[in-house]
Amino acid sequence: MSAVTEPAAIERRVGRLRAALAEPGVDLLLIDDSVDLRYLTGFTGSNGLALVGAAAEGPLRFLTDFRYTAQSAREVGPAFERETVTGDLYEALAGLLGEQSGRLGFDEAKLTVRGHRRLSELVGEGWELVSCAGLFEGLRAVKEPAEIGLIAAACELADEALRATLEEGLVGRTERDVAFELETRMRRLGAQQPSFPSIVAAGAHGALPHAQPRDIEIPADVLVTIDWGAQLDGYCSDCTRTYATGEAIEARAREVYELVLRAQLAGLEAVRAGQSGREVDAVARQLIEDAGEGQNFGHGLGHGVGLEVHEAPRLSRTAARDPLLDGNVVSVEPGVYLPGALGVRIEDLVVVRSEGPEVLTRLPKELTVIA
Ligand code: ZN
Ligand code: ZN
Repeated sequence: MSAVTEPAAIERRVGRLRAALAEPGVDLLLIDDSVDLRYLTGFTGSNGLALVGAAAEGPLRFLTDFRYTAQSAREVGPAFERETVTGDLYEALAGLLGEQSGRLGFDEAKLTVRGHRRLSELVGEGWELVSCAGLFEGLRAVKEPAEIGLIAAACELADEALRATLEEGLVGRTERDVAFELETRMRRLGAQQPSFPSIVAAGAHGALPHAQPRDIEIPADVLVTIDWGAQLDGYCSDCTRTYATGEAIEARAREVYELVLRAQLAGLEAVRAGQSGREVDAVARQLIEDAGEGQNFGHGLGHGVGLEVHEAPRLSRTAARDPLLDGNVVSVEPGVYLPGALGVRIEDLVVVRSEGPEVLTRLPKELTVIA
């Protein structure tokens, strides 16, 4: 059991969850999304279900199947009453609810239409199903110190893996080879896995924000965008750097790089508790628009990172107007993509603080030649 899921941490989360249940006014909340379950109970398996009573001393039940009996005994916080059930978890839940009645909350964003139909058939007339969308998103968005510690360690590990990978240069290696080596190094350094499939995109391929690494050798004098992250004890890192593979890159490439770097630094500077994700996005976007490249920056400025590589809060034109909170962890990643020519993205992961950003990804950002 790590510091992130020690009993006191689990109890704090249950307390925060109960406080958040007051507004939707539910009696019980059903949780069966694996990431939410991990956050709330410590369980890392793939089939589990928790039931949380809204009242201070209300029930805290955890159900799983026989494959996970031993694992759940080890992982699930002692606050939860555990039970191994045979067969379907929803049927077991219906059994627990029995002839009682009330309001049963669930996360609409995480339940399929079929799951919802099945659940309402099983729990019977007495229970009203109440949507509690976004409840966990809000809880998970504000990180505890132990969670930030793991994300920071994942960033450090990922930085180290890229530094070592680049020692052998880029020119003449395939994008796939570089991505493969980077991921292998992350695992050797202790990552469970990459946070997402690594992106290594040279030249015009870099104009695709989510490019897949190809079996094509990286040429000299182009830009190469590398976007990668490590997962450590469930927590993700996320970082992007763009390198030049020679001094003789086009003037246009250098110009775009400097623009994206300026926007990234301005965006970083704007990150602080109290600003909204929309406002921070606008600061970086304005610089890119003023340079006439607004139409080539088609994605949001950033996103929350934690147990998932994309989570709340968002930094974008359409993000919520709510203020960022102390303890949010967000990426700041403007990009400019010139179709058929080149792309530049620079991304850091930062902790939101009232005094400003606490930057977790540390590799240098001045345009660097890696030949
Ligand atoms: Zn990224
Ligand atoms: Zn990102």
